[in-house]
Amino acid sequence: ALYAAKADGRGVHRFYHENMLEGAQTRKALEDDLRHALERGELQVVYQPVVATGDARIVGYEALVRWQHPVRGPVSPADFIPIAEECGLIEPIGEWVLHTAIAAARQFANHARVAVNVSPIQFANPAFPAVVARALAAGNLAPERLELEITESVFLNESASTDAMFASLKRLGVRLALDDFGTGYSSLGYLRKAPFDKIKIDQSFVRGAAISGSRNAAIIQAIVTLAAALDMETTAEGVEVQDEIELIRGLGCSHIQGYVYGRPMDAEAAVALSRKGFAQ
Ligand code: C2E
Ligand code: CA
Ligand code: CA
Ligand code: CA
Repeated sequence: ALYAAKADGRGVHRFYHENMLEGAQTRKALEDDLRHALERGELQVVYQPVVATGDARIVGYEALVRWQHPVRGPVSPADFIPIAEECGLIEPIGEWVLHTAIAAARQFANHARVAVNVSPIQFANPAFPAVVARALAAGNLAPERLELEITESVFLNESASTDAMFASLKRLGVRLALDDFGTGYSSLGYLRKAPFDKIKIDQSFVRGAAISGSRNAAIIQAIVTLAAALDMETTAEGVEVQDEIELIRGLGCSHIQGYVYGRPMDAEAAVALSRKGFAQ
């Protein structure tokens, strides 16, 4: 029994060690592959509808990047965006997503907008507003049809340059959304001055909110009240079932995004859906 336990112990130890090594190697391999992903055409942008709560009219789409790895298959942005941020690739990738999404938005019917995720690293670069301006000019898109999604993490090292960045982006005429609200940096002070047009309520609050007695519904209610007082719209993210639509509607959220109205789709499908004008 003792022998077996020791053998087991060694086995477990070796397994763990090899696994860690594999993890580090995978990380490095992914980083190397990511360096070539753009030029090899392995990245794609897909678009998920955002609808008005009242009538499911499509007001826009969120642009989400995808990586089809030639050997590993699809790699989630939750896995490769952090790598891109650490190894200096997020700026070229982010700029490519911006140009691609703007070109798609030009084709959307009924003035549907496009929302593009902005990494804190892009946001920290004083040249970012010029990058956005160039992309809008290249795609000949009206600035109010572009929404930039920014997370609370940009306020972690808040400084005069944070204020200047918001002012420059506002001057361009683009819309600004606060993404993943309530999941990160917990001060509300920045809401006093940051010129957001919209607050996106993270799907962790939506999940289970329709179950009676859920505290999530109370939290969503409070966010909606706060946003309305600040003259901001609200989008509930990750809405998956009809019960959640009813609840979100009752709580007064202005917009809904989630699988219940549409999964992320390619540009062609998004353009076709925008011509219908409504999600089912
Ligand atoms: P996010 O910005 O919060 O994007 C929403 C995520 O929720 C997307 O995952 C979307 O596919 C997923 N989602 C939408 N509706 C539902 C639903 O009803 N149920 C569930 N379970 N999930 C839903 P995705 O595409 O895997 O993206 C993950 C994250 O990766 C994004 O979270 C964002 O932080 C980041 N990301 C994606 N594309 C970009 C990009 O172009 N640039 C940057 N910087 N980050 C990106
Ligand atoms: Ca987002
Ligand atoms: Ca989000
Ligand atoms: Ca998120």
